[in-house]
Amino acid sequence: MPFTANRQFKSKPRLLSSAKGMYYQSADGREILDGTAGLWCVNAGHNHPKIVEAIQQQAATLDFAPTFQMAHPLAFQAASKLAEMSPAGLDRVFFCNDGSEGVDTALKIALAYHRVRGDAGRFRLIGRERAYHGVGFGGIAVGGIAGNRKQFGAALAGVDHLPHPLNISKNAFSKGLPEHGAELADVLESRLLALHDPSTVAAVIVEPIQGSTGVIIPPKSYLQKLRNICTKYGILLIFDEVITGFGRLGSAFAANYFDVIPDMIVCAKGLTNAAVPMGAVIINTGIYDTFMENSPKDAIELFHGYTYSAHPLACAAAIAALDVYQEEQLFERAAQISTYFEAAAHQLRELPTVKDIRNLGLVCGIELTPQEGKSTTRAYDIFEKCFWEKNILIRTTGDIIALSPPLIINKDQIDTLFSQLRDAIVEQA
Ligand code: PLP
Repeated sequence: MPFTANRQFKSKPRLLSSAKGMYYQSADGREILDGTAGLWCVNAGHNHPKIVEAIQQQAATLDFAPTFQMAHPLAFQAASKLAEMSPAGLDRVFFCNDGSEGVDTALKIALAYHRVRGDAGRFRLIGRERAYHGVGFGGIAVGGIAGNRKQFGAALAGVDHLPHPLNISKNAFSKGLPEHGAELADVLESRLLALHDPSTVAAVIVEPIQGSTGVIIPPKSYLQKLRNICTKYGILLIFDEVITGFGRLGSAFAANYFDVIPDMIVCAKGLTNAAVPMGAVIINTGIYDTFMENSPKDAIELFHGYTYSAHPLACAAAIAALDVYQEEQLFERAAQISTYFEAAAHQLRELPTVKDIRNLGLVCGIELTPQEGKSTTRAYDIFEKCFWEKNILIRTTGDIIALSPPLIINKDQIDTLFSQLRDAIVEQA
């Protein structure tokens, strides 16, 4: 089982058997309020009828078409729709099947891009401590979670990491962007580029918000600083927007929210509202043109691809999901309700075991004081209590609770989510 303690799970399985809108139905017949949009991915709510219908129709029309030397129209329609929604200049799309493949694809494009323009000395990739970029070898190399790396050897040579910007001693209980810590972006220039020589660095990859390691929100101006340094030295900046894409911050992408435009965006999850696995890399047109202009005539410009790149069912689901986001104005809705969500989250501040609360858009992290000598157990116990006794689904990592509900959540459901969570925290303490 993925990222799950198998023996523990099998001793008392937590099973979800159906879902609709904001709720799961557990296998023992309870309605569970979804505080996590599945895994940060069901942004339009579960089993949206328009997406369900699109998948059903597509399954009966074209089950599969090869995308090596062949194509099918939906692939281009889905790509165009995604490009329309993306920040200006990011107009080219490469489809894959999930976030991990998206990250590896983006890193490969970065390395190949520099080679194709005659700058093969740029082989280094820079990630960040506590980053999660999926589980491919590229992703774990630039990722910063020790547990994901230590069993798998030296995945990639030539990788280094920025410090993460979480600083509870200065920024505890920040609402929105933390005040302190923008200077940590300067480490890219003052330490990493000084050490490695900028002419050896191909790309810097960051999650605009680090989700999986406990909702780490970038300090004010931090991302802009990274952008400026990358531009100064000809280094590509990649935003891994696997969780921040598709409305989580109240805009299509975090890039729009922060008004910082990277050279590539990796997305997945909400791209199809999670109904069919799909990932994508959205690429600056100049990068695409460089491949086209510098590759021998009629040669394959990028040696990369997956059997299921732009799978017809995924394309149908993506087109329908992107339509739903627009027609129902879900990003705007998320932006509007995020202030109510923020206020509800910060009411937990008075609880004695709560050490920090941080939030942006419809994401919030609640960091707990670990139990003496037993790190992670407090949050895990609360997670179990929430599922079995409080009928809410939350997510935990270490001693941090992360909430990221579907964008359709209403005020009553926000109240229920936080009051049930409050009870669980109090009862566990
Ligand atoms: N990148 C980020 C930022 C993620 O949060 C995740 C998954 O949560 C991934 C990559 C990996 O995506 P997947 O699990 O679809 O491979």
